[in-house]
Amino acid sequence: MPELPEVETVRRGLTPALEGARLVRVDVRRPDLRWPFPEGMAERLTGATIRALGRRSKYLLLHLDTGETLIMHLGMSGRMVVDDLQLGSFHRDAGWLPQHDHVIFETDRHRVTFNDARRFGAMDLARSDALEDHWLIAKLGPEPMGNAFNEDHLITAFRGKNTPVKTALLDQRIIAGLGNIYVNEALHRAGIAPTRKAGRIAAPRVAKLVPIIRDVLSEAIDAGGSSLQDHRQTDGNLGYFQHRFRVYDREGYPCPTPGCAGEIRRIVQSGRSTFHCPTCQR
Ligand SMILES: [Zn+2]
Repeated sequence: MPELPEVETVRRGLTPALEGARLVRVDVRRPDLRWPFPEGMAERLTGATIRALGRRSKYLLLHLDTGETLIMHLGMSGRMVVDDLQLGSFHRDAGWLPQHDHVIFETDRHRVTFNDARRFGAMDLARSDALEDHWLIAKLGPEPMGNAFNEDHLITAFRGKNTPVKTALLDQRIIAGLGNIYVNEALHRAGIAPTRKAGRIAAPRVAKLVPIIRDVLSEAIDAGGSSLQDHRQTDGNLGYFQHRFRVYDREGYPCPTPGCAGEIRRIVQSGRSTFHCPTCQR
């Protein structure tokens, strides 16, 4: 599933194709994805110029000159195809099939297709000046790369919390945009056991998570960005981040922490896989 770094990579990849472009024709090929499309979506988009591409958490934001913003979520399997090139291929990506092309944006420059095999993606239109009140966005916690996400915020959010730290970090009200992969990676780097109760971690260790989460995400964004620059010279598939994972999907491999003789193990928490090293994560 795309997480924040993948969505940011898609945003950066789409920007040269869409920023300043005018939507000449929008082909909406079904009534819904995860939820129904907004009423009259094609009509409201047609003729609009895309002023800028933003991102909030895992939502891509197309700010239009009509005063509306198109909010898009890639869901589990959503992807963007510019002309015939896919922007980004994710971990365990099965490739894409044209029968899953659900929305096609024809601009005066390019054709951008939203393809989503499992249809957990979503789109909605909101007034740009009231975006922060939109129901998908209003309850989101601070952006991990922004100033509002800091040591005080995380220490306060964890205080008294009886849930495992992994679950707390996946709570989008505490921090927006973190998903399973990068929570696993951040907890391993921090040496914190994913099962430890959030409220039982000493404040200095909680504080240490802040720069680690930022590092994990920005390294992944950089990796995505560098693969984006390459993708026209290669086969259209981006190398992506999977080779950089230290623990995610690496059950049975030796722990990469220097001096640790442990082995990566997989457990299940709240129905999701957790990969961790029981030796150096406490
Ligand atoms: Zn270890």
